[in-house]
Amino acid sequence: MPELRRGPITDRWVIIAPERAKRPTDYRINPPRRDDPSRCPFCPGHEHMTPPELYRVSDGSGGWKVRVVPNKFPALTSYPELGREAVVGFFDKMKGVGAHEVVIETPDHDKDLADLPLDHVVRVVETYVVRLRELMKNPWHRYVLLFKNHGPQAGASLSHAHSQIIATPVTPKDVRDRLEAAREYYARKERCIFCDMLLAELKVGERIVEEMDGYIVWTPFDSRFPFEVHIYPRYHLHDFTAMTPEQIQGFARVLKRTLGKLKALLGDPPFNFVLQNAPNPVPRPGRPDYWATLQYDYHWHLEIIPRLTQVAGFEWGTGFYINPMPPEEAARYLREAEPVGR
Ligand SMILES: [Zn+2]
Ligand SMILES: [Zn+2]
Repeated sequence: MPELRRGPITDRWVIIAPERAKRPTDYRINPPRRDDPSRCPFCPGHEHMTPPELYRVSDGSGGWKVRVVPNKFPALTSYPELGREAVVGFFDKMKGVGAHEVVIETPDHDKDLADLPLDHVVRVVETYVVRLRELMKNPWHRYVLLFKNHGPQAGASLSHAHSQIIATPVTPKDVRDRLEAAREYYARKERCIFCDMLLAELKVGERIVEEMDGYIVWTPFDSRFPFEVHIYPRYHLHDFTAMTPEQIQGFARVLKRTLGKLKALLGDPPFNFVLQNAPNPVPRPGRPDYWATLQYDYHWHLEIIPRLTQVAGFEWGTGFYINPMPPEEAARYLREAEPVGR
């Protein structure tokens, strides 16, 4: 019997339709094609093929471990003014102000985060923190999103391991909805809604994949997609860039392990990950209390979404998702999976 579910934060319905449930192996799709390294702009020796580098983690012998470059085809770029206006007094528009960066995660053409040694994954996470911090210094960057597209079905145009950062001059609607839900909950209860959800999930237990190094990995009650999995810090922290070195180390370990489990269970699935971080708390003229409780009411987390099913007409028409894999079953499979690349 299908079931409609709605989570406490997103105010979004999903349909869990388990009679269609399959085993993880039924979701496996052909591993993504690997690009020819001789023409890969992210491989060492091809640095001239990318726009000038913004940041690098050196390997100590003239090479690099991680590089950050501007996106060659940026969605948004820096510009001296925002140019807010209303076209014929009605349609809002502004300049495409922002930033779009690419984090090249390794010089190795064929490795990804699940395969890399832990200390390398730590360098990658540190790089995310450094770049997000840098972009949040710009008051026009209202929101800075870190995300990853892996595999062509997830929107990756190059197979060499990379993630992207986009800074936007507005707070995206989905982010705003979540922030408002968290702020309203805090105003009523003086507690973080995410911390409360975490305690509830730990008590229920059946959707927890694991708890380690200060992080909890779970499949959400209202999972939209098969094997959707979220990583939350067990400790309360609103801003990803405020992590301590120990917290970075722990997150790197859990991220590598969780991606390794998905890879073991589903082959090399196409996936997106998205960092749900606090917005840039730039002062809002005339709204001095706008971010007053942000550090208490918001809680950063990472959403990993394997792209195994298609989003089709029903989803576009309703905003509902149909998920054939109950998250409780996905959690059980993930608990049992031995990660690759240990
Ligand atoms: Zn490459
Ligand atoms: Zn919290």
